[in-house]
Amino acid sequence: MTIASALISKLPLVGTTIFTKMSALAVEKGAINLSQGFPDFPPDARLLERASQAILTGNNQYSPMTGLPILREAIAGLIERHYDRKVNAFSEITVTSGASEAIFDAIAALVHDGDEVILFDPAYDLYEPAVTLAGGVCRRVTLSAPEFRPDWQAFSELLSDKTRLVLINTPHNPTGSCWLAEDLESLWQVIASRDIYVLSDEVYEFIHFSESAVSVHKHTELSKRSLVVSSFGKSFHLTGWKVGYIVAPAELTVELRKVHQFVSFCTATPLQQALAEHLIALPEASTGLAAFYQQKRDVLRNALVGSRFTLLPCEGTYFQLLDYSQISDLDDVAFCEWLIDQVGVAAIPVSVFYQQPPKDQRIIRLCFAKEESTLLEAARRLSEL
Ligand code: GLN
Repeated sequence: MTIASALISKLPLVGTTIFTKMSALAVEKGAINLSQGFPDFPPDARLLERASQAILTGNNQYSPMTGLPILREAIAGLIERHYDRKVNAFSEITVTSGASEAIFDAIAALVHDGDEVILFDPAYDLYEPAVTLAGGVCRRVTLSAPEFRPDWQAFSELLSDKTRLVLINTPHNPTGSCWLAEDLESLWQVIASRDIYVLSDEVYEFIHFSESAVSVHKHTELSKRSLVVSSFGKSFHLTGWKVGYIVAPAELTVELRKVHQFVSFCTATPLQQALAEHLIALPEASTGLAAFYQQKRDVLRNALVGSRFTLLPCEGTYFQLLDYSQISDLDDVAFCEWLIDQVGVAAIPVSVFYQQPPKDQRIIRLCFAKEESTLLEAARRLSEL
């Protein structure tokens, strides 16, 4: 027996993520990297100073498994200020190593063998593999371009006695669309009488460009059935810190923590300490985030107005979708490879987020969490096509 012949992959259809591939290609080719979503500017210097101090003053051992109490209290304050929701810092908030871990823990804790999980297509890449590893099966509802709005009739037709979890994401990666209050209400109406939980990925919660964007935190009934995921990576320009948190009713939190304690046990203590102090010192720190990113979105959009790309709507996140049908017949993966090679701009092909990409859809995703000069130079290159 060789190792290879005995090895049966648990994720046979999964390769290395598109983010790893495209960022590596961008480095190799020296391209402007608008593919993987991360800022090319530094976080608030005061936060960096707090992290350095936290390390130097001895906050270097395990934190409590559920997260530092001072951070959980600060998160509870943030949620109360932004959403007018009171959550119990001790029984309903768990600090995790990024939103990724929170999502993984929640799925592992709630999905049993053969359970069905509903996703919206396109969906962020980590959801389906996490469901598969838990023994669940994904069912997808299509979100159609250019608005990518949920179709509640199609959604309700997908429900079955096996449906255990619905995974939602607003503001939405990769499309930049945002749900409205009526979407959350429709979701609630369809699932209210069933034993279904909701996992709401809200990592871009502070990056939306209209007042009508919503959070599950604001829906009283739905929030009692839901686990809501946030990421300090997005809210404080610190994607490499990998600190996130998940808010869920106490009964769900008990189950979630059974997984979390064995996946990571706890998250980097000095980073938790720094974030707690920052939130206490600057309680409104995330309030200006939407305006900050709206300005970047508009710089990119305005610079592409004369190009042959068609700009899709962008209501939230730091991603802008572009339709390149007037430029090329290549499929989006091939087009992105060509773009890196010939134009020096790295983007993400949107088809990779689909179970079944729409035929002949030619859309790429650009990340605008970049300095204005980076965005303008990328747009200049793209406008030459
Ligand atoms: N969420 C980031 C994106 O959509 C990627 C994070 C990662 O590489 N895992 O670009």
